[in-house]
Order: sequence, then structure tokens, then C-alpha cells
Amino acid sequence: MECKLAEFRARKKAQKPADRVIQRETKALSDGSPAVCPDTPEQKPNTCPQSPHTQESAQRTAASPAGQTAIKKACLSVSAGVMASSPAVLMRLVASAYTVAEKAGTIVQKVLQSGELGIVEKTGANDLQTLADRLAQKSICASLSKSFPKVTIIGEEELPAEDVEEELLETGHNSLILQKSCPDQYASLKEEELVVWVDPLDGTKEYTEGLLDHVTVLIGIAYQGTAIAGVINQPFYNYQMGAGASLGRTLWGVLGLGAFGFQLQEVPDGKRIITTTRSHSNKLVIDAVQAMEPHDVIRVGGAGNKIIQLVEGKASAYVFASPGCKKWDTCAPEAILHAVGGKLTDMHGNAYRYDANVKHMNSAGVLATLRNHEYYSSRVPQAVLQALPSD
Ligand code: AMP
Ligand code: MG
Ligand code: MG
Repeated sequence: MECKLAEFRARKKAQKPADRVIQRETKALSDGSPAVCPDTPEQKPNTCPQSPHTQESAQRTAASPAGQTAIKKACLSVSAGVMASSPAVLMRLVASAYTVAEKAGTIVQKVLQSGELGIVEKTGANDLQTLADRLAQKSICASLSKSFPKVTIIGEEELPAEDVEEELLETGHNSLILQKSCPDQYASLKEEELVVWVDPLDGTKEYTEGLLDHVTVLIGIAYQGTAIAGVINQPFYNYQMGAGASLGRTLWGVLGLGAFGFQLQEVPDGKRIITTTRSHSNKLVIDAVQAMEPHDVIRVGGAGNKIIQLVEGKASAYVFASPGCKKWDTCAPEAILHAVGGKLTDMHGNAYRYDANVKHMNSAGVLATLRNHEYYSSRVPQAVLQALPSD
């Protein structure tokens, strides 16, 4: 029961003036409202922290002028302390990636509203690129490399090297993320040790067909070949809920810290619900899915979308027994899934690596689960395994 492109546009038209034909590629950014993350509370910068057990005595001290000076000094020294131990590079990068992914999500919304998708076939009719893919990638890569010049950033789209317009840049960050402690094992990582994998629009085929909630923006962060953090923006989350609902959301996670921006849920015990591709199926995919003896099969677009189904209890395994997914499709989703105890591997159960120089294609398919990975892995037919050797 999907709301189609025309319905989405009609809703948007009702909310805003219908005067936004894109003249140039970047004109797509000049109007409309940003994606709203329902899980981002108001930020309160520059407040002086006060621990609960000192609150009463602090109120007494505050009554005298000398007390006020003492409090001011204490506050200053707390601020100095905070500044001295600035957040770890990883947390700063995740906090920026969060805001950058939101901006990219807004770009994806605006291009759709404009009605000028600028569709280009890459390798064929099932491998598309739109204006939204191009603009979102420009925005993400330029923004992150401006703030983190030594990080290696790898984006899906091949784009000409050119100056990026100011309006595509996002230099903000999510300050709630900065308040979280970095897991010890990542606290001293350096910018140059991190690799960022960017899928500016995952589920492009579905985007062009109006299956809007399949679409995500993916920013994954890897260290020593492992996906350790990820951000997923879902620009059209809630789009069927009517004008009152806030549109879009952002999920994020770090290994050893957890994942945020959604309610973790599991499929009921013993129920096998498989989520798989809707537009890139073939005999291997069908055979692998059937071998799982599923109670139900959900066919949807996007790697990011399918991982969201796993962590929200809509599906128990993501099965894609085919080459086709690339490292930018799986890095952010894998990090978030692993942060909540799930697992993403190839069809053999082997981990993928995300070093800067790896092959982009996940040639041995994708098998992802929140729980019971062994069960699904053990059911993959031998013929499928032989057709999809691990790297
Ligand atoms: P799907 O589940 O079909 O939406 O695929 C998940 C991700 O992998 C999307 O980014 C697809 O574009 C990509 N993908 C999977 N199979 C192929 C393929 N045969 N050709 C191009 N991209 C693919
Ligand atoms: Mg993709
Ligand atoms: Mg893409």
C-alpha cells in the first residue's frame, strides 16, 4: 500500500507554493523545509553543569556576592575542563555526519518536489542515478572533507571534480552526539585512520517509482577495515502519516556505544520473515530465500531500508544471494546493526572489509540478521555458495 510520487507531490503542493522548477542543479536547495528528526531534542549549549548532590548548597552560596564570584569561577573552570578534553575525532565525525545526512535528506526531498529528477542510467535500467544522487553526494563529500580534510571519503557516484556551491555545504553537528563518551577503543583514533563510505541515495530505483520510504542516505565510517559507526537518514519516513507528522528521521550508531533514533524490536521467536530485493532478483536470490523456509517474504528496495526492517522487528533476515550491493550500501547499515548485536556478512558468513583500497562490490552477497545468524547461514544452498565465492 504505497503512496505514489504524485500523491506525495500533491501533499507538498498543498503545503507550499508550487513555484519550484529547478533552473540549475543547485536551485533544488533554495526552498522547502528541512527533514525533521523526531529524536533530536532541543540543544542547550553553554550551560554550566551542576551535579544533583551539590544543588542545595550551591543555591545557598549563590545568595552572596562572594558566592556568585565563586560560582562564576567554578563555571569557567568547568568550561575550560570541557574544552581541554575535546570530543574524540570519531564522535565529532559521527556528529557531523548526522547533520550532513539530514541535509542530504532535505536535498533528496526537494529534488522530488521539483519534479525534475534528472534520471541517468548507469549500467542499465535497474542501475539509475538522479539529480538527487548527484547533489546529495556533492553535499556530503564536500561538507565532510571541509571539516575533516584527512579522512578518506568514498562516494558511490562518479562525478566530475568541480567546485561545490556554498549552499550545498553543511558545517554543523549534532551536539547530543558530542555529549556521549567515545568507546575507549576508539577514543584516540586519528582522522587519517578513518574511511567514510557514502551512498547519497540508497534505493534510487524505488525513489524514481515513488516508493519513498525505501529511500535512505547512508554514511558509514570504517577503521582498520571494520565498519565502526554509521548514520542512516530516511528522508520520507512518516510521509504517509499526513501533514501533521514530522517528515524524515535519522538513525545512528557506534560499535561499543549502541544505536539511536529508533526503537529496537525483534520479530517474534520462531518466525522467519525474509526481506530481500524487489528490483535485482535472480535465481540465486530466489533459491537462497526459499532455502530459509520463510513464513513470509518482503520485497523492498534499498540496503539501508532492509537493515531498518531488521532492527525494528519487521524482518528476521536480509538475504541477497547475488553480487550487486557495494561497500557504500553496507558500511553504515552494518555498523548500526552490529552496534545492537546483529550481524552482516557475505552468504558464507564471512565479514566484509571496508579499507580504502577494497573492491567495491560485495560479490558474495549479503546476509544480515539481528539474531540467529548461524541458522540462516547454515541454510544457504551449496550451489549458491559455489556461485558466490568469498573474496
Ligand atoms: P536492492 O535490495 O535491490 O534495493 O539493492 C540494494 C542496493 O544494492 C541498492 O543500492 C542497489 O542499487 C544495489 N544493487 C543490488 N543489485 C544491484 C545490481 N544488480 N546492479 C546495481 N546495483 C545493485
Ligand atoms: Mg545503494
Ligand atoms: Mg545510491
